[in-house]
Amino acid sequence: MTLTPAQQLAATDRAHIIHPYLPGTAEERVVMTEGKGCRLTDAEGRSYLDATGGLWLAQVGHGRKEIADVAHAQMQQLEYFTSFWEFSNDKAIQLAERLATLAPDNLNHVYFTSGGSEGNEAAIKMARYYHHRRGEGSRTWILARDKAYHGIGYGGGSATGFPVYHEGFAPMMPHVSHLTPPWPYRTELYGGADPTDFLIAELEGRIAEIGASNIAAMIGEPIMGVGGMLVPPADYWPRVREVLDRHGILLIFDEVVTAYGRVGEWFAAQHFDVKPDIITTAKGITSGYTPLGALLVSDEVTEALLQDHGFPMGYTYNGHPVAAAVALANLDIIERENLLSRAVTMGEYLHAQLTDALGDLPIVGEIRSVGMMLAVELVADRETRTPLPMNPARMPHDVIRRETGVIVRDSAHSLVLSPPLIMTEQEAKEAATAMRSVLERTTPAGDITK
Ligand code: PLP
Repeated sequence: MTLTPAQQLAATDRAHIIHPYLPGTAEERVVMTEGKGCRLTDAEGRSYLDATGGLWLAQVGHGRKEIADVAHAQMQQLEYFTSFWEFSNDKAIQLAERLATLAPDNLNHVYFTSGGSEGNEAAIKMARYYHHRRGEGSRTWILARDKAYHGIGYGGGSATGFPVYHEGFAPMMPHVSHLTPPWPYRTELYGGADPTDFLIAELEGRIAEIGASNIAAMIGEPIMGVGGMLVPPADYWPRVREVLDRHGILLIFDEVVTAYGRVGEWFAAQHFDVKPDIITTAKGITSGYTPLGALLVSDEVTEALLQDHGFPMGYTYNGHPVAAAVALANLDIIERENLLSRAVTMGEYLHAQLTDALGDLPIVGEIRSVGMMLAVELVADRETRTPLPMNPARMPHDVIRRETGVIVRDSAHSLVLSPPLIMTEQEAKEAATAMRSVLERTTPAGDITK
């Protein structure tokens, strides 16, 4: 049998690429070959609507010639020269200065990485090293939350709060303690108490158990993405910050998803009006055109890290000039096209479309969003809020993609959307209609009828 070029690519992929896999990952992968705006085209010429912005990052959309031109020019000028230990480069310096002006005012220092997992490894090491340099080396514990996702390193991976990412990889990093996530829809988690009151009491209790003098930092996504776009009550982060301050514990915001316009501000720290000590970012910093991550670090932490000598941790690609040039071009577009305010207005529009299209379906428990991070939580029963059972062989997001070409993601019993911030109203309607066409056929047992 002769294979079509698309089938040949898929076969070669199967023969040579090790992909990440969890139950519910499609067995037959779509091979994408082109992207423009919010649209993608696969190797067979089929068109898709990208309602997830790749892996939650394509802020400015696909196929921007302006960014490609910048990368091309930078590769000709200086593609890379050695690491950041003894040298620096003009583009990384310009980007660091720009990030410091966008970040909350105490965060003026930048540590570059190539992505989010590397960023969280660096952040956890920075937190421990900060205390070590200040003579408090006993502060090694990291507080995290269930349902958190902090990447796949051993540090961030241990802080990740899904057992499925730990199974088979033991021993994970010791001295990590998980707290209850802020997920107001799941009232059962708080035994009838106000969610924030419950969570603050739990935090205080855990600090007392471990001992404040043993705790380096708490790490958290301001809005938990992989957990299902879990939006905390408005008073949660300010109150957490107050408790941590009282105990000398650093706050690391993992803004790998939420930064660079996704929630309608440059950083979700600004949305929640809190000042973390370290913010980890990646993804939207380049809209995915090249890998890059950046930690924004406070003056106080930096001073301790750098006293006497520098911070003894470097990656080969710290401050890669091509990635930095691409990030600068990406930030230019976000600014020029007012994508921060667009994230708010389009996010509200898309939320309204989802409510119109799905609000009457008994399996839709809650629709929640901040800016262009949206989730539709699926339940078997609206009264009991029992999570909708999922059939890994026939997941709603997979059927939606196959039948309609609209790409959404599955995240812990929720369908999540994080489209490019340039999404049009027409595309928002298309996404909502596509989701309805499958969810209206989804039974409370999780079966999808023909
Ligand atoms: N942190 C968060 C909140 C994420 O959502 C992700 C990835 O989705 C990561 C960290 C890991 O980033 P990366 O995949 O770039 O290593």
